[in-house]
Formats: sequence, C-alpha cells, structure tokens
Amino acid sequence: MQITFHGAAREVTGSCHLVECGGTRILLDCGLIQGGRERHERNREPFPFDPATIDAVVLSHAHIDHSGRLPLLRKHGFRGPVITTTPTARLLEIMLADSARIQEEDARWKIKRLKKAKEDTSWVTPLYTEEDALAVLGQIVPVELGGTETLSEYAEVTFVPAGHILGAAIIDLTLQEDGKTRRLVFSGDLGVQGSRLLPRPRIPARPDYLIMESTYGDRERADEGDRTETLFGIVHDTVARKGKVIIPAFAVGRTQELLTRLNDLVEAGRLPGLRVYVDSPMAVAATKAFALHPEAYSQPVQELLASGDAPLQFSGLSLVTRVQDSMAINASQEPSVIISASGMCTAGRVKHHLKHTVGDARNTILFVGYQAAGSLGQLIQAGTSPIRIFGEWYPLNARVETIDGFSAHADRTELLDWFAGLGGAPDHTFLVHGEEQAALALAETITERFAATVTVPRLGERHALV
Ligand SMILES: [Zn+2]
Repeated sequence: MQITFHGAAREVTGSCHLVECGGTRILLDCGLIQGGRERHERNREPFPFDPATIDAVVLSHAHIDHSGRLPLLRKHGFRGPVITTTPTARLLEIMLADSARIQEEDARWKIKRLKKAKEDTSWVTPLYTEEDALAVLGQIVPVELGGTETLSEYAEVTFVPAGHILGAAIIDLTLQEDGKTRRLVFSGDLGVQGSRLLPRPRIPARPDYLIMESTYGDRERADEGDRTETLFGIVHDTVARKGKVIIPAFAVGRTQELLTRLNDLVEAGRLPGLRVYVDSPMAVAATKAFALHPEAYSQPVQELLASGDAPLQFSGLSLVTRVQDSMAINASQEPSVIISASGMCTAGRVKHHLKHTVGDARNTILFVGYQAAGSLGQLIQAGTSPIRIFGEWYPLNARVETIDGFSAHADRTELLDWFAGLGGAPDHTFLVHGEEQAALALAETITERFAATVTVPRLGERHALV
C-alpha cells in the first residue's frame, strides 16, 4: 500500500493523489493547477503516471482545482469510473463545461494574437474541449452523500459530508492488502462552522492515515459577529438611500449562501419589497442545482424547508440568464441587490453593473470574497479612484464594504478543532492544499499540540502505508 502526492503539494491548487493497494490504483481528485500563466502551463505537462492504468477516480468535490483535469485524464486514456456524490455530479456538469469553454476561448485569443503578429499558430490547441468534458461526464458514478461504494476487493470508499460546497465530501477509504486493513481519510476541502446553508464538516473516527487540507493553516478569520445582521445593515441603508448593492460573488457556493441569508431577512419582513437579482448564467445554473439537493443542506435549513420556506426562493428574487434582462437591470433606477460573477470582477456581467454604479454615492459595492492583488475588485476595495472599466475611467463614489466571513474554507482554529475531534492523532498525517508557509505552520502546531507525526509532502513524494 502506498500513496504518491501528484498535486496540491505545497500549493493550493491541482489536487491529485495516487493511492495504490493490492493492484488497485485509485486517484483522489484530479484538479486543475491555477494561479497565473506559469502555473497554468503546468497543466500541459504529461501526467506522471499512465492515465490508462488508473482503475477509478474518487472525487471530493466539484471545485475546478479538484476536478478540472478530469477531461485531460480522459483524453490521455483514462476509462474507469469517476466516483463522487450525486450533488457533485450535478455541479460538475456545469463546471467542467464552463472550464472547457474557458480553455477554448483562451486558445482562440492566443491564435488571434499570433495571427496579428504574423506568427505560426499551428501549435495552439485548447488544454481540452467541451467534447472532452462531456466524455468524462459519461464516466461519473454518483453515490449518495454519506454513502459507501466498493471500488475493488481491496478498497471501499465512504463519502462523509464536508460542508464546503454542495455535495463536498471527506473521502474515507478502507484499504486491504496481504491480510492487513488500513483506513485512509482525505479531508478534501473542509467547510466553515458558520455556514447557514451547509452543514458543519463531520469528523470521522481516527484513521490510520490522514491527508488534510491546510489552505488557511496560518490564518484566522476576523470575528465579525452575526453576518446576516451585517448584511442587513448594508442592504437596508443602501436601499434607504435609493441605491443599489452590487455583490461580486463566486457563482458556486458564495451566491447560494448569500441568498439563504437574504431569504431569512425577506421572509422575516425586514426588507419589504426588496428586489434581488442573481445575474450570471453559471450562478443561476448552480442555484438550480443547489435547490435540487436539499439533503445536502444544514439541519436548520432543512427544518426551514420542511416548514414550507425554500431557502433559495423568495418574493422579489429574479434569476437572470438572458443578456437583454441583464441590460434592463442596468437601465433601471430601482433600489436593488445585484449578485453577479466573477467574484474578483475580472470578467463577467459584474463589470457592466460596476460601470453603471461606481460613480453614484447612493450605491454600495459589497465584497464577500478574496480579491487577488491587481484584480479590479481589489482596486475598488482599496478605494482607487478613478477606476478603469472596459477601457474607460469612472470616479469611485459608491460606498465600498467587505464582509470577510463568507469564505467556504475552515480557518486555522476550525482546522485544529476538526483534527482534535478525530480522537487521537493518526499514525501519519500529510498536509496538502495550502501554500508552503500555511501548510508548514499548521504542521508545526499539530505536531506540538497532538504529538502527531506530520509531513508536508513535496510534489512526487511517495509514502508506504504500512
Ligand atoms: Zn474547494
């Protein structure tokens, strides 16, 4: 029995770990490497194993940094099942197709640029196409969240709710070889304690081996009190000024968490007559996928649903997909909340909404997620004025607000609490899915506090599971 770390080793993206047991080869996740051109180009390197020899992929959740190289794996010979939860399977249909379209667009843009410079374009191909994405979707074997699936006579997997995004699971593997049985738990990405829509991450019983994420291994979230109340204050004040609240948000996860909280406020009669628009085709598709899987919600939201109040549906809410409807919202002077992608304002319809609203002091731009350095979102968040959108300059007169706590990732304290809940340190813990300093900081604390054996593996590092 052994494990090799082929991705998200001392970095956050490209999750990919190979487990070998009794002749069965199982790949845990197959994510895209993201974050800048140099990192992205690494996706073009051949897999360090033959994809045709992989018996099954077990997928923790739908985020592209965990699933985005599946079409490539298929393209290079993988024909086995992709085993994941039913809600994840549904989100993958939306997210892999979208990822493929981005790859194709990228290639078209590159060809256009080279042609202009009269250079050779014959070498430019998309990383993968929509056809590749559709092909691998046909290999998905969905399992209920919480359910167990037999992979081979040597391996069995249980999908434990991780509370990170819809359908996200902690992978609990039971492996057998030469009469020995070992349990290996892979945390995937762990959710936050304070999510309204999704449950807290479950904690499995102490495994022999643990692979754990460390994204926020060196960071605590600020305690902001009740986030629904903060949201209420911002929306209430802006609407009283007859302004619009523009919320740039990631289409999958963040948007639905916001809607659940707005639902609470509207249903309680605290924001009477409020118009709320979700204006992003992908966010709308994701919201519909969320609505189809109430079994994956938190207990309080399931109770809400049982009482007759659908958490992603309330009067005044419009899900907008057509371009002309999106433009009509821009033209309207009506006070409203507009949730639109992309989360960092680097692309998508949110840029049009910003163009129409940043100049007016009645409006509020509300950030609920991380803004990378240099992104339009980060410039607005920093109060830069004037601000350039689609090549034109606009004064920043709108109010700018930030609510940090809507992240879908457990922070340092939550990661440590989750580890403590295992009821004893595993024989060996491996920390992945964090920048080097975050992973090393968490490793040091876990080693000291729990007398644990902890490794932060490097890319390609292999460990025997004895
Ligand atoms: Zn994730």
